[in-house]
Amino acid sequence: MSTQSAAARTERSSASSSDRTVSLGDPVQFLPGVGPQRARALAQLGVTTAGDLLVYFPFRHDQFQPTLIRHLEPGQTVTVVGRVVRVRLSAGRGRQSVSATIVDNSAQCTARWFNSPYISDRICAGSVVRLSGKVGEYEREPQLVNPRLEVLEADAQPVDEQTGAFLEPVYHASADLPSSAISRLIRLNLDRLTPQVEELYPEAFITQRGLTPRRDAVVRMHRPANVLEGDAARKRLAYDELLAMQIVVGMARRRRRYVESSRPLRVSREIDRRIRRRLPFALTRGQEAAVREISTDLAADRPMHRLLQGDVGSGKTLVAIYAALVAIANRAQVAIMAPTELLAEQLFRNADRYLAGSRVRRALLTGAASASRRRQLRAEIAEGELDLVVGTQALVQDGVEFARLGLVIVDEQHRFGVRQRMTIRCKGPSPHYLVMTATPIPRTLAMTVFGDLDVTTVHGMPPGRSPIGTRIVLPRQIDAAWKLVRERVAAGEQAFIVYPLVEASDAVQLKAATQEAERLAAEEFAGIRVGLVHGQMRGDVRDRTMGDFIAGRTPILVATTVIEVGIDVPAATVMVIQHANRYGLSQLHQLRGRVGRGDRPAHCLLVADSAEDAMNARLGALVKESDGFRIAEEDLRLRGPGEVLGTRQHGLPELRVADLLTDVSLLNMAQRDAKSILENDPALASAEFRRLRESIWQRYGDRLELAATG
Ligand code: ADP
Ligand code: MG
Repeated sequence: MSTQSAAARTERSSASSSDRTVSLGDPVQFLPGVGPQRARALAQLGVTTAGDLLVYFPFRHDQFQPTLIRHLEPGQTVTVVGRVVRVRLSAGRGRQSVSATIVDNSAQCTARWFNSPYISDRICAGSVVRLSGKVGEYEREPQLVNPRLEVLEADAQPVDEQTGAFLEPVYHASADLPSSAISRLIRLNLDRLTPQVEELYPEAFITQRGLTPRRDAVVRMHRPANVLEGDAARKRLAYDELLAMQIVVGMARRRRRYVESSRPLRVSREIDRRIRRRLPFALTRGQEAAVREISTDLAADRPMHRLLQGDVGSGKTLVAIYAALVAIANRAQVAIMAPTELLAEQLFRNADRYLAGSRVRRALLTGAASASRRRQLRAEIAEGELDLVVGTQALVQDGVEFARLGLVIVDEQHRFGVRQRMTIRCKGPSPHYLVMTATPIPRTLAMTVFGDLDVTTVHGMPPGRSPIGTRIVLPRQIDAAWKLVRERVAAGEQAFIVYPLVEASDAVQLKAATQEAERLAAEEFAGIRVGLVHGQMRGDVRDRTMGDFIAGRTPILVATTVIEVGIDVPAATVMVIQHANRYGLSQLHQLRGRVGRGDRPAHCLLVADSAEDAMNARLGALVKESDGFRIAEEDLRLRGPGEVLGTRQHGLPELRVADLLTDVSLLNMAQRDAKSILENDPALASAEFRRLRESIWQRYGDRLELAATG
């Protein structure tokens, strides 16, 4: 029996349980090295079973390169990695010292610690150590004096024999459990657990794609022998994640295509003509193309699930309204859902404008309506007496059953709560779905997050847009900003001044914005009319203030981010965004899209909180870039998909290994493979993919069940 397993056995019996094999589903506490305290710290990192620990992968490997002992020169400060050959404790000349002889592949040296006898408890012959410190000389040999000591794993090996470089896994850690402790724990248990890792695919499938076998990939992810091997391991595991995800969305898509049915909503020539008569503009080419795609979907007897994306100002609302009018012309009910009350009101106002004088029965359903009014609206919806309902998601979904719902339009803005759309209730066939997003999504993300949706992109902008000059302004330069505002106002143009209000209910921020508006009106803009709008204002007051600004009676509007969602004033040419560094990149882009809608040059001034904040990468990106898609990609790069999408909200488990920004070709491969697998085996019922099916069920079970019950 090897010394290693003997040691492991001792540790295990002292850890807790019996001598039986710990299986991947067992609590992590059954493992050697994990006591109750460790188990608690691990649980906080999401690791509760032995299997969780095994797939708790490092997020990177640090490469460090120790100096070869042969190259040590007195006077240098170095890091050396080597094996301890001998340890001696001596008490010569009143000074106690521990000395150790260390060898690497090149030579040997000694390390000496004075007045630190405990060192001799930490190392013994055979220990692999990393020492950092200054090189001295003793009896014509290099010697490290009082170096910092780190004991490495006994099997720690350089990844490169020539240079002696090491790879060190770095794990997401916590204050209670540093990366090095996780690393030790995993190394202690890796060989014990990996034999239980099962392959997911048939052998031919693996060799054809040049994938590392899964068991090897798990081991090498934690303990790569070299960089290339580690990379191949990561790719294999990333592919597994992406394939599972593509299978899940592929199943949802197929189910929709072949199982669900819905009422076809057809666009006759007459209907098209009637709708266009109501619209205030001729559609742009981008809008035309979008309308064509959507009309084709609506006319089918299976439900449309389409994402409508396009840069801010590209005119998505008009496209959505067109779709709504098609449904209504087919005597179907339409529900439009917005993420906030404010957005719902905005959408309703737009729809209301286009429908003026029509017989379409429409209503706004928000929390502002009284309980009895809401009850009444719900009854009318259930009776089929309302054709169009606009409201917040919660209100439209909660306790309402539609009589003949034909189309659901979800305005996501930049919240990605799409999964909720499944829960709206209606009698009869499934409704068609159109999801609008104001944040254009890079293709890789659309494929995962919205993988079960078809995507329509509105390309191009309505005519007559002018470019927006964007600049970063420091607080001490703010006078120049006010001067620009005064000049443009004197020239008959208008300005927005925006304050961040992350939550519409934040009283402190609201007060600050209000006071600042009053100060600006009294001082900087004395003699000019300044309006103020914010989310907590009474609806009629806000409408009046907005109305004054839109009509040009109030040249300056101080606003919290409520203006983000759709006021449209061609004469507005200046936007000053205060505390700009506190906003997200996409949000800033949305805000900026409120100017530059006329034919005069527009300005966007980003006021940073400090010179340091002015260096903010988001602000820099905004100055450089005006294309919403590229901005979205940059946002993704800066914040990561989890942050941008809100992992919890979009309902997909986090990708632990795959990187949506860089694993594009893996994602493409996974998508192709998922498609062909499902074509041959739609339910994944065959024996060759049994393990894949089980692993997907384990990971996505809830969601599949949801999809299965509709
Ligand atoms: P998005 O929601 O895509 O950001 P909107 O739907 O709010 O954009 O449209 C932006 C502005 O462009 C609105 O003021 C809208 O009235 C205007 N608009 C939309 N379509 C056209 C068009 N075809 N021609 C001219 N203006 C248009
Ligand atoms: Mg919009």
